[in-house]
This record gives sequence, structure tokens and C-alpha cells, in this order.
Amino acid sequence: SYDELKKSTSNFSQANQIGSGGYGKVYKGTVSGGQVVAIKRAQKASMQGGHEFKTEIELLSRVHHKNLVGLVGFCFEQGEQMLVYEFMSNGTLRDSLSGKSGIHMDWKRRLRIALGSARGLTYLHELADPPIIHRDIKATNILLDENLTAKVADFGLSKLISDAEGHVSTQVKGTMGYLDPEYYMTQQLTDKSDVYSFGVLMLELVTAKPPITKGKYIVREVRLALDQNDDEEYGLRDLLDPTIKNMTYMTGFKRFIQLALRCVEDSASDRPTMSDVVKALENILISDG
Ligand code: ADP
Repeated sequence: SYDELKKSTSNFSQANQIGSGGYGKVYKGTVSGGQVVAIKRAQKASMQGGHEFKTEIELLSRVHHKNLVGLVGFCFEQGEQMLVYEFMSNGTLRDSLSGKSGIHMDWKRRLRIALGSARGLTYLHELADPPIIHRDIKATNILLDENLTAKVADFGLSKLISDAEGHVSTQVKGTMGYLDPEYYMTQQLTDKSDVYSFGVLMLELVTAKPPITKGKYIVREVRLALDQNDDEEYGLRDLLDPTIKNMTYMTGFKRFIQLALRCVEDSASDRPTMSDVVKALENILISDG
């Protein structure tokens, strides 16, 4: 209830605020039974977006998977709109990559995070009924729980799609740098748009940098580096996160880069599906794990 959520966050105090995003502010709280939760409280301004809010609830209440951030509950009382999620104590993948969370990000851990996120996304694409395209895969939407299990968060931009053909949406949504160029141009939304964003995320996992850094696109930078040097190991050296620079000898490293580049092919039909990506990552993990 509203009163419980209010109490659990000490009256939505500043001290309990953990972030803010598209919907409004996010608070940490503990609900009865002791479960620690993240409460997304909609801003007054986004109230007209009530339809969007309901869509997110309907989606999430139906979807359960180890690699998706679970919706614990919601609250529509006293003019408030709140979503209650399981709390992810290790924050966003972006925080880990920028060194903010103090988590040691070795190669194996990065592979596991990639695989977990890919499994969550595959579930949305193939097992959710009807299928769900996330539309906003990025490092701030991958959260890590206390076991460092990666979970895909924020279905705020997702819409249910019932036809496998894909449909023309009225507005292109997503985040610069992760946005599928084909979707951007045609507004034709398919699961392959998520695959593109996921490929960018994979490159972010090895470089640790956001997809656009100092005006440069990571996808283009990686392609350029590889074109200029036959040997991936040396071509990419300057772009890699120092923490994993010595891992380039791993056979899986090259396969990881090749896989990422297939995900970011300009033409959606040249990209693998997310379940292809899961299989490929499983094999890489076996060889490098
Ligand atoms: P955005 O709309 O920009 O994706 P969100 O509203 O989803 O942002 O979340 C804002 C911030 O709140 C996140 O970057 C993260 O730090 C934090 N956060 C969101 N959900 C959770 C959660 N389930 N557990 C812990 N922290 C969370």
C-alpha cells in the first residue's frame, strides 16, 4: 500500500533515494516481510503517461526469469504511481565498468554478465507471450544483484508486439549510441534492434567506455581499429579496458569481438538472433571459463 511504501522509504527522504530516471525518482525501501526493494515513483509530470505505466505493469507482472529484474508489486493510490522492483544491490553495469562500484571486472565476469543479459533478452524475445522487444538495452539498464547475476531492467520503453513481422511504430525510442541504424531510418522495429544494442553493450564490456565517447562511436572505432590491423589482438589494444588488456590471448576474446560485430551489422537480417548469441556466448565461456 501507499502508506507502507511511504514508511519503508522514510517518507521518500533524500537519504533513501538511489537514482532518478525516465519515470521519476527511485528509492530504496524494505517492505513487510523484510524484502529490500527499489521503488520507482512517477513524477507528477509523467502522470499523463498513465497508459505507459500500466503497460509496464502488465508486461512485468507476466514475465519471470532469473535474468530479468522482477516486479514485486505496484501502487496506484492517492494520485501516486509506483512500481516496486526487487532491489539490485550491486547497481548498474555502467557503474561497474566505470569502476564506481568497486567490483573486480575480470574477463570471466564480463562473459557471465553478457551471457546472463543475453538470456534475459532471449526470454523476452522468444518465451514471453506475446514477445517483447526491450527497445532500450544499455549498460544502465543491466543491473547486478548480490551474486553479481546480471538482470535486464526497465521495460518502460517496451511495447507488446503480437505480429512476428514487426510493425511500424510512430516514434523512434532508444538511446543514442545503442540505437539500431536500420530502426532509426525505417522505424521498423524488430527484435534485431535489441540485438544491435546488445552488440554495442558487448563492445562496452571490453572497452568499459560508453558507446559515444568524445563524439566517437565505439562501433566505428572498433571497426577502424580492426581494418587497420590484421591482428585483432594488437588492433584493439588501445581501445580495451586496461583491466582485461592481458586477456586478448584468450581464444574466446576474438570470438567475442566477432560476435559483437555481427550483432551491430548495419542490416538487421545479417545479425544473429538473441538465442544464437546465447549459444555463442555459452561456447566462449566454456573455452575461456
Ligand atoms: P532510467 O529510466 O534512466 O533507465 P531508472 O528509473 O530505471 O532509470 O533507474 C534510475 C537509477 O535507479 C538506476 O540507474 C539505478 O542506479 C537505480 N535503480 C533502478 N532500479 C533499481 C533496482 N531494481 N535496484 C537497485 N537500483 C535500481
